[in-house]
Amino acid sequence: MKFNQYQEVAKQYGVGGGGDWFNLKEGENRVRLLNEFEIYGEHWNPATKKYITCIGKENGCKPCAAKMPITVRALGWVIDRSDGKVKLFKMPVSYTHLTLPTIYSV
Ligand SMILES: [Zn+2]
Repeated sequence: MKFNQYQEVAKQYGVGGGGDWFNLKEGENRVRLLNEFEIYGEHWNPATKKYITCIGKENGCKPCAAKMPITVRALGWVIDRSDGKVKLFKMPVSYTHLTLPTIYSV
């Protein structure tokens, strides 16, 4: 399933809304991953205290040209098993290398 098909999935699973963010809790997190996560980069801009989505150096990303640090993230849709809602999950990729918190796909 592609990232932009979440509306269909929400209908299919009889869950409403969307637009909610899934927040990792300490310990066990039970979610169903609905699509392949999109990997993307973000630059932290300390001046504005906001993240800027990286469009890629080859596409003329200014923060890249300015050598601003980049955080790699994975973004995808999940069903949060604690309340059954479809949510967007922005996962710092570094989490995939840690044992905690635990993410179960159920
Ligand atoms: Zn960039």
